[in-house]
Amino acid sequence: MYEYPPYRPPSEAHSVLIRVTRGCPWNRCAFCGMYKDTRFEIRPLDEIKADIEVARRIYHARTVFLGDSDNLVHPQLEEVLDCITKAFRPERITSYARAKTVAEMPMERLSILRQKELTRLHFGLESGDREVLDEIKKGITPEEAIRAGKKAKKAGFEVSEYVIVGIGGERWREHAENTAKALNKIKPDFIRLRTITVVPGTLLHWRMKKGLFRPTPPLERLKEVIALVENLNCETWLFSDHVSNYLWSDAGVIFSGVGGRLPDDKQKILEELEDALRIAEHLSQSGKLYDSNHMFARGFIML
Ligand code: SF4
Repeated sequence: MYEYPPYRPPSEAHSVLIRVTRGCPWNRCAFCGMYKDTRFEIRPLDEIKADIEVARRIYHARTVFLGDSDNLVHPQLEEVLDCITKAFRPERITSYARAKTVAEMPMERLSILRQKELTRLHFGLESGDREVLDEIKKGITPEEAIRAGKKAKKAGFEVSEYVIVGIGGERWREHAENTAKALNKIKPDFIRLRTITVVPGTLLHWRMKKGLFRPTPPLERLKEVIALVENLNCETWLFSDHVSNYLWSDAGVIFSGVGGRLPDDKQKILEELEDALRIAEHLSQSGKLYDSNHMFARGFIML
């Protein structure tokens, strides 16, 4: 066996997983429990090369994903990419990337990494609203997130931006509108929606228990996604590729999120959301509407 990253996006389910760093150098986002028990480390090049050699014998995949959360800080990432390219001849290499890191790094290095076949960067934008970003302790401003996304696009990367639905609490409308504004400036290739599911061990969980935070309720969350989609005017793919976006009744799943190409599918997506809202309102009145927070607490879903 070899050491592989503990987390990867669903779109990388069939990728070779290579761990370049361990943990997250920031590790303070109020909603995130991913690397709470992991001290951030830049892995030695020799260890990564040994893992690549083992992975080469195990995998027959044509795509490669790099973990953990902020790999572009690795000073020898160019050599890692050379080694991966030689071992797998992959169609794409993708990585999580912290916006702060990309916003501050020289454009030349970013371009070199792209030339070394690093293809796609997955950024956690979470929100384009300054107040929400402050509240969740994201450690970036909307301007930094926009600068990072635009720089990555300029360097030739495919950019994937994650948005957390429901993280704004009562501020859901500002969260939706300002997130759309940020995304319209970045023009990412992919927007991926995740609905806030509050997990134990996080600051948000503690705040929720103290009554200091309440996730946006399901009906308002659907309205939030409607406001987001209405305000998006860039060409992009929208995905809801995560179970956190689902809504359930006693009979099973009633909504599994929306997706499609924008702007072409905008009207269709908005109609689907309006339909979901009508069903959800009906179920909510009888107390039979469940979201990922209910299902996670009852042990029916894993995140
Ligand atoms: S969300 Fe990303 S940046 Fe924030 S603590 Fe988690 S891994 Fe780190």
